[in-house]
Amino acid sequence: MEKAQLNERLRGLPQVEVLLQHPLVEQMQATLPRAVVVDVVRGVIDDARRAILAGSEAATDADSLIAAAFLSGLRLQQPSLRRVVNASGVIVHTNLGRSPMATSAVQAVHDVAAGYSTLEYDSDNLCRGSRHMHCEQLICALTGAEAAIAVNNNAAAVMMVLTEFAAGREAIVSRGELVEIGGSFRIPDVMRTSGAHMVEVGTTNKTHLADYSTAMSADTAMLLKVHPSNYRMMGFTESVALRDLHRLAAAENEYRREEGGAEVLVYEDQGSGSFVRLDAFGEFAEPTVAESLRAGADLVSFSGDKLLGGPQAGIIVGRRELIERLKVNPLARVLRLDKMTLAALEATLRLYLDTEVAKREIPTLRMICEPIEAIEERAAELSAAIEAAVPKGCCSLSIEPEVSRCGGGALPMCDIETRVVRVAFSRGNALECERYLVQQREVPVIGRIKNEALLLDVRTLMGPADVAELAAALKAYFTHLK
Ligand SMILES: *Cc1c(COP(=O)(O)O)cnc(C)c1O
Repeated sequence: MEKAQLNERLRGLPQVEVLLQHPLVEQMQATLPRAVVVDVVRGVIDDARRAILAGSEAATDADSLIAAAFLSGLRLQQPSLRRVVNASGVIVHTNLGRSPMATSAVQAVHDVAAGYSTLEYDSDNLCRGSRHMHCEQLICALTGAEAAIAVNNNAAAVMMVLTEFAAGREAIVSRGELVEIGGSFRIPDVMRTSGAHMVEVGTTNKTHLADYSTAMSADTAMLLKVHPSNYRMMGFTESVALRDLHRLAAAENEYRREEGGAEVLVYEDQGSGSFVRLDAFGEFAEPTVAESLRAGADLVSFSGDKLLGGPQAGIIVGRRELIERLKVNPLARVLRLDKMTLAALEATLRLYLDTEVAKREIPTLRMICEPIEAIEERAAELSAAIEAAVPKGCCSLSIEPEVSRCGGGALPMCDIETRVVRVAFSRGNALECERYLVQQREVPVIGRIKNEALLLDVRTLMGPADVAELAAALKAYFTHLK
């Protein structure tokens, strides 16, 4: 662009004062403080100036800038972190907040958040208590562990265990288990940060017990087993069972007792943390925490918001004297849970005292276990609600079989049979609609696209409110096309 032309465009930019007098911008001042509206208007003019200088041909007339200001005003009024409708069929969806919480857990959060609580108060003895006590007994009762501690998340739990028990010493891990979990959690990196020396054994596909025993030295502090949460190796593969690692460690410890050295521990980073055996998934069902402990793990850690279906947390269970050491590690203070999470975790754990209650009340478990007949019924409801809401002739609806996923790095091989409402477009199209449903709705709707149709998986809907929201969202999309 010529310099003169550039200057002319810059000079043509509207003044802040002029934009502020526009009715739409005046309307913004009903819900936003004037100073904020002024900032927004300044911001869009600045953006336009920058765009012109960068040689962009984007429209910078007053109407375009007002539209931009109005949109960014709307964004300001809307919480950034807000509810969405999950029609993706991924149950533990890390981008969508993993596990929705049970009603009693939500109520417990409300009760402790809105006032004072017994967070660190021992009401039996009228003295200072410990925040660790609220969940420990329940966790032990449910897993058969001697002791337990809960921290911020499982990544924190892994870091804490490695730091306390393996810093400056060796931890042996199979090459087949050097995993990356989403969000930059990679076992080798966590090891390095903890100060543990990682000793890799075996190969990518096969690791034998002999690989561990060959690598064992006087400096070995830990045999680490990492659950391959989000993938499975198929074919010519072999890994060593916890039970065998336990036997190896026991033999080594016998020898060390005579020599007077520190013991070697077996620690499993289990990830998903299941309390109930999901037999329907057969050989692919995740191991339960109790099973890992029975197999001889000294320590097991897992997430609170994956299969457990509670709040974000990392729970470490195992032998009492080991957990006691973790409780006095300075990281326990750094990584401690807040009262809201503790309340939610305790309430969630309480539901597990009766497995049937847990499967009914904990949304994540309920969604995993919900029978196809109930899913079919909901699909019919959703289809009817959409049919009744949208203008005639703009789309055709059908109910189709599909698969949902557990997500959250659990049950990666398990197809969970589901039903989707398939929306085929006569007006507009799936891509545009998907965008509209996410970006233009107060409650964004997350579906998925397949063969130019929008699929709405009903397994991950929370209830009638989600069905109504979906119907309203599609109605709004087709109406805005006019
Ligand atoms: C998910 C997972 C983690 C990380 O847990 P967060 O609770 O997300 O911090 C660590 N290890 C394994 C094996 C996992 O599956």
